[in-house]
Amino acid sequence: MHQWQIFLEPADTDEKRTSLGTLWADTMSDALNKAAQYYEKATHDLVAVQVSQGNALHIPVKPTLQPCEECGTSPALQYELVGITGVLCRECLQKEVDVVNRALKETSQGEE
Ligand SMILES: [Zn+2]
Repeated sequence: MHQWQIFLEPADTDEKRTSLGTLWADTMSDALNKAAQYYEKATHDLVAVQVSQGNALHIPVKPTLQPCEECGTSPALQYELVGITGVLCRECLQKEVDVVNRALKETSQGEE
């Protein structure tokens, strides 16, 4: 079982992606189907992002020609994190990821 962060992102509008919550499922399609039932939304309007074991966050990135917002390195990566998009180089993004992962680990302490 994996934990998935579920976002609502209506396919045919310009509405911003909003976070609905997290749930547990084996695969992404499983997660989307469960979320569709639970939140009463269409699966094609939902996005599932896996939160990996150890509570580390996976951040979808794609290469971009824009320079890094932090240090100006180019080319950098465009990332998407909980509905926020930005451009960072690999090093700066790694720092951001470390911060988020540390926060996730702290929140999970005491649950085990
Ligand atoms: Zn940078």
